[in-house]
Amino acid sequence: MRCLRDLVQKAQQSGVAIGHFNISDLVLVKAVFAAARELNVPVLVGLSEGEREFVGTRQIAAFVRSLREEFDFPIFLNADHTHSLAKGIEAAKAGFDSIVFDLSALPIEENVRQTKQAVEALKAINPSMLVEGEIGDIGTGSEIHESSPDLSKGLSTPEEAKQFVESTRVDILAPAVGNMHGMLRSMVQGETKKRLDIERIAGIKRAARVFLTLHGGSGTDDEDLRKAIVAGINIVHINTELRVAWRHGLEQGLAKQPNKVVPYKILPSVVDSVKQVVGSRLKLFNGRHVAHGA
Ligand SMILES: [Zn+2]
Repeated sequence: MRCLRDLVQKAQQSGVAIGHFNISDLVLVKAVFAAARELNVPVLVGLSEGEREFVGTRQIAAFVRSLREEFDFPIFLNADHTHSLAKGIEAAKAGFDSIVFDLSALPIEENVRQTKQAVEALKAINPSMLVEGEIGDIGTGSEIHESSPDLSKGLSTPEEAKQFVESTRVDILAPAVGNMHGMLRSMVQGETKKRLDIERIAGIKRAARVFLTLHGGSGTDDEDLRKAIVAGINIVHINTELRVAWRHGLEQGLAKQPNKVVPYKILPSVVDSVKQVVGSRLKLFNGRHVAHGA
């Protein structure tokens, strides 16, 4: 089995990106795994601190490892949005393959200082673990927002990106390039889309020369995502779209069988609903044809 770094490198060489999907229960893992296997593409599942607290850090690591080993399939695990070194160390010791060490809410000097420390501490536990740092402001909360936050002042610049990467030695950088966590209600309804600053992505890639992650990919224009990958994005995070599909699938499952109580007869409708979203995003990230309106 190749390690995550090799797979991201290979994706970069092939001009495709790896899909990263947040999960907070085993139904979501099942859906992500099924979609990736069907398309035979590598995949990352991620859990933020809150998601890890609910599922269990060591428990999800054991579960994902068991899928990877039993099916000899490249499914990897990311500790998403980790705000303290203690939580990072916990994930590293549990066997996570990568971590997003996110101190982007702090002043940049403090973000640099603590991220650099975290890179050293985490690599000491597991040298092959990929450490991602984050700069700029892309908002918080992978949920449905009623109004759009003003993130225009928090966009990342190539100079800042280069300096951050050189000072911290992160493997991956998460910049602010028009992306945003969560979705506006109009995006859930398909009326509006997020738009990305492709030129900014290309400039940051040229300056920083590291792997780049796009956070908050839910609700983003398909063509912008394709162009962003060409411009240098290597990993794309999708969370809110899965959460919306999870809820719809659950409502449908319950409505179809109003008098049933057997979870494994109700929950497959959640798996199907989430799997469709994951499959459609994976096709796009991997340069496969995506049917219009799918
Ligand atoms: Zn994120």
